[in-house]
Amino acid sequence: MAGFLKSFKNFFTGPVGDSSSKFINFKVKCGRCGEEIEVKASKTSDISRLYEGEGQSGAEYFLRKEILGEKCNNLIYIDVYFGSGFNILSKEITGGEFVE
Ligand SMILES: [Zn+2]
Repeated sequence: MAGFLKSFKNFFTGPVGDSSSKFINFKVKCGRCGEEIEVKASKTSDISRLYEGEGQSGAEYFLRKEILGEKCNNLIYIDVYFGSGFNILSKEITGGEFVE
């Protein structure tokens, strides 16, 4: 079912275009069952702007997201700090690991 949905979506969205720049994609692996989960973080609704002195030095944006896979009920949390161009400065994960 998941595979079907994925190809269905690719059929309509086609190659990566400018609309994808509103999102930052991560791939994580569940620490309990090993499921690989694609995470799409919206720059407008998921990522918050940091004010001077908040978070780590040089960080402009911050993302905290809860991720739940389909195979088990293990909750995964990611914390990511971004620079001004949405370049990743640091990232941390609880309950799983990042897949490069
Ligand atoms: Zn899992």
